[in-house]
Amino acid sequence: MIHVKSNSELKKMRQAGRIVAEVLERMREWVAPGVTTGELNELAEAVIRSYGAVPSFKGYPPGGVHPFPAAICASVNEELVHGIPGPRVLQEGDIISIDVGAIYEGYHGDAAVTLPVGEIGEEARRLLEVTEGALYAGIAQTRAGNRSGDISAAIQAYAEGHGYNVVREYTGHGIGRRMHEDPQVPNFGEPGRGTLLRPGMTIALEPMLLSGDYRVHVLEDNWTVVSADGRLTAHFEHTIVVRDGGAEILTRLGCD
Ligand code: MG
Repeated sequence: MIHVKSNSELKKMRQAGRIVAEVLERMREWVAPGVTTGELNELAEAVIRSYGAVPSFKGYPPGGVHPFPAAICASVNEELVHGIPGPRVLQEGDIISIDVGAIYEGYHGDAAVTLPVGEIGEEARRLLEVTEGALYAGIAQTRAGNRSGDISAAIQAYAEGHGYNVVREYTGHGIGRRMHEDPQVPNFGEPGRGTLLRPGMTIALEPMLLSGDYRVHVLEDNWTVVSADGRLTAHFEHTIVVRDGGAEILTRLGCD
């Protein structure tokens, strides 16, 4: 059974979402040539803790063999998701996906953006624009009465219509008391299929696009997912609530 959140639960999720949004705003200010991904991680964790929240990625999954060691995923260029922050120095022309999660009073917020490092090339700029567009194409299909397949199909159609591929192995997901709840929301699918959306369901949509082939592999650090062909990739994510006429985005500054 998929958990429909009460208003008091949504209040906590709104706060978790605001914290995540604040972290990503700070990342926009900090990402620049010469900065290390480890420095970004330290700043992000400090911001999360300053609000009395806990970074949800750090130590994930609990009891796992290779728990994730940081508060953010920092994935550069051909790295699609789950990059481990560290000594890597960002270079002019790179693109970096920053994914962050926070737990506030037991509830999760989860969001990601892919940011340019200094001046970037036309190919990279277009990839970022289309990946963010794919996220909003999915959000536009998120309303009570639609099905999860409507979201998946919209993301896939938008991405492929612009000449990109979507990842197959990693998906959007329900979110709430746990970071990953049902339903899974893949970035590909068929309209009219999947979970019926009801008001108060909370999901994280996260299109992951590849410039080349959709195949990926995981590096020896057990986390970093890269495009198999080494071409550029990007990732955007919001945590949202299903409403009757549409969706409310929780991981955006300035939301109610
Ligand atoms: Mg997520």
